[in-house]
Amino acid sequence: MRPTPSQQAQPSLRHENSELRGLLQALGQDARYNQAVLQRFQERELALLSAGDLVGLLTCLTDGMRASFGLDSVKLKLLDPCFVIRDLLVSHSAADTHLMRDIELCTDVAAARTRFGELGAPLLGAWDEAHHLALFGRRLGGSVALLPLRHSEGLIGLLCLGSRDPQRFRAGQATDFLGHLACVAAVCLENAVNRERLRLVGLTDSLTGLYNRRHLEHRLQQEATRAQRYGQTLSCLFVDADHFKQINDRHGHPAGDQVLVALAQRLRARLRASDLATRYGGEEFAVLLPQTDIDSASALAAQIGAAIAAEPVMLASGDAVAVTVSIGVATLADGRRSTARDAGEAMLDAADRAVYRAKQAGRNRVCRADRDGDS
Ligand code: GH3
Ligand code: MG
Ligand code: MG
Repeated sequence: MRPTPSQQAQPSLRHENSELRGLLQALGQDARYNQAVLQRFQERELALLSAGDLVGLLTCLTDGMRASFGLDSVKLKLLDPCFVIRDLLVSHSAADTHLMRDIELCTDVAAARTRFGELGAPLLGAWDEAHHLALFGRRLGGSVALLPLRHSEGLIGLLCLGSRDPQRFRAGQATDFLGHLACVAAVCLENAVNRERLRLVGLTDSLTGLYNRRHLEHRLQQEATRAQRYGQTLSCLFVDADHFKQINDRHGHPAGDQVLVALAQRLRARLRASDLATRYGGEEFAVLLPQTDIDSASALAAQIGAAIAAEPVMLASGDAVAVTVSIGVATLADGRRSTARDAGEAMLDAADRAVYRAKQAGRNRVCRADRDGDS
């Protein structure tokens, strides 16, 4: 018996049916995969949006990205022409931490723009030794995604993601998710920097631009805790301008202000990024020197004193004002018998008493707290 037309159609229908099922399954798999990718991106964006402060945000952009996307390398380049970000990180004691392994602050914006290229959108593709070695700082292979971070005024940085898997980031791959993530990251960065700058206004002396005493007290405790915990040294200088009242009396108060600004500049010029120079009050400055013993601190104090005495301050009026300082040097006592707060305060008191001795001994000199019975 010959098959009816409907019986003839059955095998092709079955075939079509199974093809459609396969297609549906593949679409389902794609949808599930896309859903998982979307969820991962959304989680990352939420993490960025809820990162507490600048340090939290930078950690989220480096360690967080690496962990949640399973990447082999993440490098974050940030344009920082005026050292704003660097100073903010210093204020958090984060400038020398492991966080900075993955972050580069670029002060030469023109050079950085040449290095990064004027990227408008994320650039994905195979590892290219000539271009990528400098960005990642080591040979990686595989594939990379370079995400420009931009805000209203242009490029502010570059987030470099690297994977040893050559298929991970492919040229022409949909970059919408990455582009969106880069936008969120740039906005979060800008907000965090602005928020931190506002916070710093309350911690900064408006005349000299140095940190104020409030910030010193906060950092003193942090640094003393760190020094005690890791058995590191911590020293401080107490710097007091000599006969400052006479400068005001002779040249006027505004001239005295200019001398204070010059003193602050000369002080800061000799310090490392991790040191902290503060205006303690009036014509007095306090400097914290992490990982510095009393010998090195005294040598630095002598250099600072000599540099200040060597060159009169030129006033806007054209007058030159000779100025000297007396400096007391002290270091954090060994051991954990006292709390970090008490040990820090004792160090500052000792430096203050050493200044008093320097004044009595004739000014324009350095006195150590551990000498002449003043320990
Ligand atoms: P010594 O060598 O013993 O430290 O003498 P001194 O004159 O520096 O010390 P004294 O404590 O007698 O005077 C400090 C002066 O510093 C008095 C005060 O008017 C002046 N001063 C404090 N803050 C400011 C300021 O912000 N601007 C100016 N121009 N002067 C200030
Ligand atoms: Mg004084
Ligand atoms: Mg004085």
